[in-house]
Amino acid sequence: MIVAIDGPAGSGKSTTARRIAEEIGFVYIDTGAMYRAVTLAVLRNATPITDNTLADLIARTTVELQRTASGQRTLLNGEDVSERIRMPDVTAHVSAVSANGIVRNAMVRQQRALGDVGNVLMDGRDIGTAVFPHADLKIFLVASVETRAARRLRELAVQGIESSFEEMCADIARRDALDSERAISPLRKADDAIEIDTSALTIEEQVAEIIRLIRTK
Ligand code: C5P
Repeated sequence: MIVAIDGPAGSGKSTTARRIAEEIGFVYIDTGAMYRAVTLAVLRNATPITDNTLADLIARTTVELQRTASGQRTLLNGEDVSERIRMPDVTAHVSAVSANGIVRNAMVRQQRALGDVGNVLMDGRDIGTAVFPHADLKIFLVASVETRAARRLRELAVQGIESSFEEMCADIARRDALDSERAISPLRKADDAIEIDTSALTIEEQVAEIIRLIRTK
């Protein structure tokens, strides 16, 4: 079974998907981590990025998601970059990098292959619309910008990164706009996706509701 969980930044996708996968024994695949790893490769690349150099960079770059006892790790050319890709410089550039067709083609191909492993829960922006348009169940999580900004601030604070509420709201709104206005596979609810507003829900409630939907399916 393939379950697609899409939604904007901070809507609770990864936390919810990770917990559900643990509870029901599905494989969790965080596609945002893959775009973040490619963005880090772009940031580290010394030469200016054009379509040609990007294609070359993608051909030389491997992104792997590794399952360990402590959760999913993201490897860029074999290096564990799981923490590094959550840093503000990667977040600031990821929407621009992931709007590029060369990057998306490579990632989508890899994500489809990853979906072949059995029961999978994949989260992202375009899983229900582009990666797996025939997913067995599609969930679209939404929440207000303020709710999402407050969540991201708490997550970053745990990592010792400080930011203001206003800055975070602006950053989330900027990423929403870039992700939903891009030409290729924009962030959009699939027609057959079930929308869940998580603003007033706890993680436990979101998890329970989606597990109920998966079991019903
Ligand atoms: O989910 P996360 O916030 O880590 O994703 C980072 C960025 O990666 C998103 O803002 C979006 O630009 C891009 N992304 C995407 N398609 C996906 C997953 C993430 O374009 N399936």
